Amino acid sequence: MAVLDVVLWPAPVLETRASEVSEFNAGLRQFVANMHETMHAAGGIGLAANQVGDLRRVITIEIPWSEARDGEELEAKEWWHNKTFTFVNPVITKKAGKFKFQEGCLSFPDLFEFVDRAAEVWVSAKDEHGKPFELHANGLLAVCLQHEIDHIDGIVFIDRMSRLKANMARKKLARRGAPITTTDPVKA
Ligand SMILES: [Zn+2]
Repeated sequence: MAVLDVVLWPAPVLETRASEVSEFNAGLRQFVANMHETMHAAGGIGLAANQVGDLRRVITIEIPWSEARDGEELEAKEWWHNKTFTFVNPVITKKAGKFKFQEGCLSFPDLFEFVDRAAEVWVSAKDEHGKPFELHANGLLAVCLQHEIDHIDGIVFIDRMSRLKANMARKKLARRGAPITTTDPVKA
């Protein structure tokens, strides 16, 4: 396995729609293993292929359960905590409710901002062997799936912010290097 370089915004690969995977071969499985290793090394809870410069529709997710994040209530343990997920060609088939979460992104170091998402999503996808599966996600898994599926559609989270917030974010990024205080270290 290998740790891949994470592409930082701005970069064309982050704004390009990735292509459907049609060959489920050893090369794909090696790539998926590298994505998981990269996600761990970078301390992210999710990663999309675009973020390592590859335009295949592949995302990886692993959300560790922490008994208490700083300044937060004890987090309820969900079925998806501490599980390793690989989604190839994922499609959101249904959404429900509304949820706002302060999101971070490995391609936008030190930027954390609230984004409007659906509270629940139903996803159909394939694993790295080409086996189809369906999944119903809530909470942070639902947020993470929407964030990562946006990535493979060439959409980054500042595109989901209001114009005002997106402009503030761009200014923050322009003065990168300045310390930015944040309460939530979750990056995807
Ligand atoms: Zn991201």
